[in-house]
Amino acid sequence: MEGLYDVKKIREILGRHDFSFSKKLGQNFLTDPSVCPRIAEMGNAKKGFGIIEIGAGIGVLTNELAKRADKVCALEVDERLLPVLAETLADRDNVKVLRGDVMKADLHSLIKDEFEGLEVAVCANLPYYITSPVIMRLLEDRLRIVSATVMVQKEAGDRLCAQTGTRECGAVSYAVRYFSEPKRLFNVSRGCFMPSPNVDSCVVRFDILPQPPVKVSDEKFFFSVVKAAFQQRRKTLCNSVSSALGMDKRIVEQAVSAAGLSPSVRPEALTLEKMAEFAEVLNKSEKL
Ligand code: SAM
Repeated sequence: MEGLYDVKKIREILGRHDFSFSKKLGQNFLTDPSVCPRIAEMGNAKKGFGIIEIGAGIGVLTNELAKRADKVCALEVDERLLPVLAETLADRDNVKVLRGDVMKADLHSLIKDEFEGLEVAVCANLPYYITSPVIMRLLEDRLRIVSATVMVQKEAGDRLCAQTGTRECGAVSYAVRYFSEPKRLFNVSRGCFMPSPNVDSCVVRFDILPQPPVKVSDEKFFFSVVKAAFQQRRKTLCNSVSSALGMDKRIVEQAVSAAGLSPSVRPEALTLEKMAEFAEVLNKSEKL
């Protein structure tokens, strides 16, 4: 259905379906006509591609994705929206709406069953309450996807795209850079949504890397070190890691020094490469 950006029309459809917005589910629907086409175009919605959309809402973005891609599978957790989507997407025969929670859905099977012979990308105006877990899931699960293009809160976008080794970075920035090349695409003001949220947003695309840019022998250990390093941000790397992992402080100090780092170094000063080097040394010394 076209004209889904018209607030009057949205109110009419939602009223007919007796729908009220759920804050808990992060339901802020896009009403600015320029945003969804840009997400679709920059998010790989094109011929030869199948798109997974997370959180279809009333289907504004779904509609733009379906216009451009070969096929769209849209996940929506709120079953009250299913009859709405059946109406708004009735004229699109390349869309499958699936009721489901993105955190529980078997995305590997979905890709295998629905997108054979197609390249796959993820596009979403994410519900903000689960931004980081969703992004981590998309990256860590090593899904057969080329990219994930998501709208997130502006501050979350800054953190997600921050270069490691800078003051802006956090634990999530290391995972993002390990699995992908992030790109901040454009800002979206709070006025572009209904209802309007309290914060502005931005759209970020993660281009999935074929190989991580650094070699680590034990990924699980590496990410536990990253998490530990940032658990108490104001502490030194050494104090934070030894207390969070329950490791002898002298062993951690030796690893810090063996990685060529100062004893007072803070976690955010480490680039991805340095963090990997430090974790490798620590892993070896722990096994001695
Ligand atoms: N795509 C629509 C748009 O841009 O207008 C809606 C975006 S709205 C920010 C987020 C959507 O995600 C809502 O429709 C909400 O019901 C849905 N949602 C919330 N939690 C979800 C989850 N765990 N799994 C799938 N969808 C979810």
